[in-house]
Amino acid sequence: MTPLFGEIIGQERAIHILERAVSAAHTRDGSQSMVQSWLFTGPPGSGRSHVALAFAAALLCGADGCDCCQSCHLAKRGSHPDLEVIRTEGLSLKIDEVREIISRASWEPSSSAFRVVIIEDAERLTESAANALLKAIEEPGARTIWLLCAPTVEDVLPTIRSRCRQVALVTPSTSAITQLLVREEEVTKEIAAFAARASQGNIGRARFLVREPESRARRDEIIKFALELHDVAGAMSGAARLMEIAALEAASEASERDEIEREELAIALGAGGTGKGAPSGSSKALKDLEKEQKSRVTRATRDSIDRALLDIASAYRDVLSIQMGASDSLELINGHLRIDIEKRAASSDSEGVMKRWEEIMATRRALKFNVAPLLALEALFLKVRF
Ligand SMILES: [Zn+2]
Repeated sequence: MTPLFGEIIGQERAIHILERAVSAAHTRDGSQSMVQSWLFTGPPGSGRSHVALAFAAALLCGADGCDCCQSCHLAKRGSHPDLEVIRTEGLSLKIDEVREIISRASWEPSSSAFRVVIIEDAERLTESAANALLKAIEEPGARTIWLLCAPTVEDVLPTIRSRCRQVALVTPSTSAITQLLVREEEVTKEIAAFAARASQGNIGRARFLVREPESRARRDEIIKFALELHDVAGAMSGAARLMEIAALEAASEASERDEIEREELAIALGAGGTGKGAPSGSSKALKDLEKEQKSRVTRATRDSIDRALLDIASAYRDVLSIQMGASDSLELINGHLRIDIEKRAASSDSEGVMKRWEEIMATRRALKFNVAPLLALEALFLKVRF
């Protein structure tokens, strides 16, 4: 068992594949026959980038991922000299960025057997960027390993995925996430179990729900709103409120990280780096960082809207379970709102609830194509009124 993989939950099959690859890579001839391009797929929150990072760290470690050497510590923090982690903060990953990554990827490793590049959001590559990447993957540097992450294989160009060894991650079970939260977040079993159910397999979301009580309250507010929604004015104000909540959620996720980055940049530039006599380029660096942070908030807001829609869908699912008489054997996702859910179940028919569930899913798909979120939400709420 590779110690570095000990923190990964619910992915036994994938870990089995990766452990074998790590120990083969570290044998005398293994490093030559090592598969150089990997594609990690799995639903949001299944831990794609987490697993890719652990795999990278294990490859870079001299002892199969011991989780206690300097190399392992640096790699886990993403600051190993032979590791590059590419996160797309914007909505797409453009060709200029990819070209830069490719030129650095061909460098010789400095202290490890390999040089590893992780691209966390391969589905956000523009077509030209993907083609540039394809060339690099077809003729990788002798020691370069590419680890791409995407929700599904269909999100990546066929020409790229055919060159990659695929590792499919699964949605972790509710009980696996509950155990993880109890172990790591100092939280009661009850809250952990709720967060695990409500996150629907998304570990990051589950952690966030545990850590932010306000976020749990906002989630309840949205669900109750959807269950009671009946008039046009309510649909309009509800759409505006959901936008507001999404912005709040995005901001509370981003604020801590933004602050750290600004401090790190200030240190890198020297104190007072943007003032008079500061090195040229420092105010550009600050502007670039602000631009990056802004586009990250835009993306986080979209993710947050999507999660809110999934939350509403989970409430419809609960209503359906009660209408079909399955509620005794089946645990409701939103068991703490049982009274509201039972009330809705008693005063609507299951066919109508199912239709509303489908409308939610259609809007989630539409929102992936840059439609204006507020307009999409207004249109949706007009349709799903009871
Ligand atoms: Zn190590």
